[in-house]
Amino acid sequence: MSSFDQELLAEQQERRAAGLWRDDSMFDVAPGVDFGSNDYLGLARDPAIVAAMAGAVHEHGAGGRSARLLAGGSPLHPHAERAVAAWLQAEAALLFPSGYQANVGLIGALVGADDAIVSDRDIHASSIDGARLSRARVFVHAHGDLADLEHQLRRAQGARRLLVLTEGLFSMGGDRVPLAAIDALCATYGAWLVVDEAHSIGLLGPDGAGAWADVATGSGRVVARIVTGGKALGVGGAFVVGSKALRAHLVNHARSFLFTTAPPPALAAGLLAAVERCRGAHGERTRVLGNARRLAERLELPRPAGAIVPFPVGDSGAAVALAARLREQGLYVPAVRPPTVAPGEARLRIVCHATHTDEQIDRLIAVLREHVPARAGRAPSGPLPAPRLGKALVVVGTDTGVGKTVASALLLRAAIRAGRDVAYWKPVQTGDDDDTATVGALANAPAEVLLPNAVKLPLPASPHAAAAAAGVTIDVDDLLTTCAAHRRTERPLLVELAGGLLVPLSLAPRPVTQADWLERCGADVVLVAHAGLGTLNHTLLTVEALRRRGLTPRALLLVGEPFLDNAATLRRLVPAPVFEVPPFAPLTAAAIDAFVQAHDLDEVWR
Ligand code: PMP
Repeated sequence: MSSFDQELLAEQQERRAAGLWRDDSMFDVAPGVDFGSNDYLGLARDPAIVAAMAGAVHEHGAGGRSARLLAGGSPLHPHAERAVAAWLQAEAALLFPSGYQANVGLIGALVGADDAIVSDRDIHASSIDGARLSRARVFVHAHGDLADLEHQLRRAQGARRLLVLTEGLFSMGGDRVPLAAIDALCATYGAWLVVDEAHSIGLLGPDGAGAWADVATGSGRVVARIVTGGKALGVGGAFVVGSKALRAHLVNHARSFLFTTAPPPALAAGLLAAVERCRGAHGERTRVLGNARRLAERLELPRPAGAIVPFPVGDSGAAVALAARLREQGLYVPAVRPPTVAPGEARLRIVCHATHTDEQIDRLIAVLREHVPARAGRAPSGPLPAPRLGKALVVVGTDTGVGKTVASALLLRAAIRAGRDVAYWKPVQTGDDDDTATVGALANAPAEVLLPNAVKLPLPASPHAAAAAAGVTIDVDDLLTTCAAHRRTERPLLVELAGGLLVPLSLAPRPVTQADWLERCGADVVLVAHAGLGTLNHTLLTVEALRRRGLTPRALLLVGEPFLDNAATLRRLVPAPVFEVPPFAPLTAAAIDAFVQAHDLDEVWR
């Protein structure tokens, strides 16, 4: 053995001793049920995408042949770029062979030695490497910490150009950061924002257009979004998406675009087909997000923002041992260790797919549950251990009088029929009505199912106005505490809000709406809208407002006389199952029960 190899082996020994060694056994292609890859929607085996790629090989040949600027690529390359730009409602996009190259090329093209970068601690290695190569000064802030971001933005003042790097959904924590607030800070400090949508594209935002697409009106500071093609899109490659000026700049300055062979035509064809497929994959999105939420709930982990559920372990060796135990059970979940995550923060990175069955998820839960007690007390600082909270469904209306009480009675009846030990809670009741009694009677619910209102106010008005008239204020923290107390009993809880989503609970000391409460309570949402003329706008506005808060409805109930093809239109536009509830005449417990027998509303509870 040469002395060079001996040197390498000595270095490797250190890694082995620290439990950080990786070898070729990790390359096994099918080591069990796949809870590790980023094929979130199952599109890597989608027949339309596979056929498009095969067809492109025959029509355009196998290779990209040379760099794009030297006549490499194919007519499919700009075609795919236009499709992605249209999806994200941007002017232009540029295709790179990989996300790694997209980040390195973009960052190096935008900043240099006179500039500064402020980045989240947890950004992907490709952005870290792009920042290092750019020679800009780099300031790192604690993950998702806006106060620290602001502090670093102040420190970085004086640079010629200031670039903030973040992600739509973080790959190792599976969490989202508040993009609207980050964008606002960029505006205040004259910085420009880059959002890497690698793990949010296809999953979050309208039609899966990513986390930034959820931010209704930014302040114009986002200059680029990275859309990787190898994850939800199931193919490979990556786009930098932004303005025409940005694209032209990259064509001239992004070295990882200029000095590399164009991706094969089949990649462009596959991406073109995948974008089309992904935009319409509403059912797959609902399934994968539902799978991730159910898994996290049952493992008592924080609610995931996307498909990734990190299971904290801490010690690298313990994480590898747990992954090996899962593998023995036919379940592939990779252990993630330093340097991918910070020292002491080793974890299992569980990735849910739209294609996972309940049985596969149950099997994974069964093995991991054995490990839960050992995890307690030594969770890493990354994903926080969640308090034990039972499932909660919150019934939200697009307006007052749209049928929330009928919808609540249906959901309660469905849960009772399915044998669930459920509870119903209307936190704020205004006016003479007693919705709790009405829901209880319509759902034929025993008295112990019905929890008392937290606040009862005589004026039939918005909670903030009814509270003002009674000389009281509604304390949101009190509501959250009571809600958590109800959920700690581990009984599934049905919560009915008052009026529409954005109705204020209080105006002072600062305005708080029901949506703010909902965002903090971390429950699932069921949206109720009237079925008639005018519902499209109200429903879509409410879905957009929910999305801005990282919430997607579990179901949409359209109550009342149907109007034209409203239900079909909303099925296209809202990524959730839509139930049509006819007017009940008369509205009786028997009518509610008959509807529940005929429709699988319990699906919303599962
Ligand atoms: N950005 C993020 C956030 C990623 O997670 C990844 C891949 N893990 C990349 C960029 C790189 O993408 P690619 O695999 O296409 O090189």
